[in-house]
Amino acid sequence: MSNFNIIPLSKLTEHFERFPGIGKKTAQRLAYFVLKMPIEQVEDFSNAIVNAKSSIHYCKQCCNLTDKEICSICNDDNRDKSIICVVEDPKDVSALERTKEFNALYHVLHGVISPLNGIGPEQICIKELLARVNKGGIKEVIMAANPTVEGEATAMYISKLLKPLGIKVTRLAYGIPVGATLEYADEITLSRALEGRNEI
Ligand SMILES: [Zn+2]
Repeated sequence: MSNFNIIPLSKLTEHFERFPGIGKKTAQRLAYFVLKMPIEQVEDFSNAIVNAKSSIHYCKQCCNLTDKEICSICNDDNRDKSIICVVEDPKDVSALERTKEFNALYHVLHGVISPLNGIGPEQICIKELLARVNKGGIKEVIMAANPTVEGEATAMYISKLLKPLGIKVTRLAYGIPVGATLEYADEITLSRALEGRNEI
């Protein structure tokens, strides 16, 4: 029997197992690691989990995660407030911010439209985006959903809603990853890369 029938240990292991990318063995290793930690550290850890969960919510404007009413990006006066980049997930904001190339605003959808999984437009933050655009002052919306079937369909759906409002809707260029070779790129990636070519 795993964990020798020590119920609190089994329970802790079960919790770790629910985390993405954590299998049974890793969950068990983490649980044993917690048991070796000083009690103060364990308390700090559990408080950090509860605090993060209770204090972090969606930014009222862009739906990114924040512990304030309006996030630091929306509040940054040095950013171009006429451009919004629409992404699927808060992690995508961090990825784009790391490039230091984008100095405008974001909108986080928290998912994509996926009828097969029962996710319709009302289940993700599309109405919040429309409300923002309707307030005025937005010139361009960049669609940066992932290039999956659902991501593309979501981008098309949103662009159809925005275009009648006179908003320029663009999407990220697709292409060959840096350091990759043409030989191994699939046909869709190659044809998209051709489509999105730039003058050098
Ligand atoms: Zn925000």
